Amino acid sequence: MTVQANPASYPRREQPAMTNAKTLFPVCGRPARLPEYLVQEALRIAAPYGSADEADVERDLWCHLQVHGDGDHFALVLDLDGVATGAIWTRWAGGTPVAALDIRPDCSFIDPDSRDACCEFALHPGVHSHRLTAMPVASS
Ligand SMILES: [Zn+2]
Ligand SMILES: [Zn+2]
Repeated sequence: MTVQANPASYPRREQPAMTNAKTLFPVCGRPARLPEYLVQEALRIAAPYGSADEADVERDLWCHLQVHGDGDHFALVLDLDGVATGAIWTRWAGGTPVAALDIRPDCSFIDPDSRDACCEFALHPGVHSHRLTAMPVASS
């Protein structure tokens, strides 16, 4: 029996309305489903980095980038153990199924106000995650 990873684990900070000058940009949030064979592939890729649990693999995916026009969507699939090892990400073009996994290093940006690290991958397009609205709530 597996427990669905909780999407609420995405770091979320309360933004006081109208009292904070920081502008938030909408997140793309395009949903996708991780096929079961890629769940197993993610575990295989993660194995050398430490024991990954099947429940930690994100199956209900959404694009973590700022709203974008053309170009692929990117979603976090599994964080890898260890400092600076990065995470497993997938990308897909609109209208096509998720079909590939890549290890991408973490974005190194640290928000000067909150000291939180950006949750995206290195050299991602769009603004850093601190400047994005919260992820949409997953519907399964
Ligand atoms: Zn997207
Ligand atoms: Zn970033």
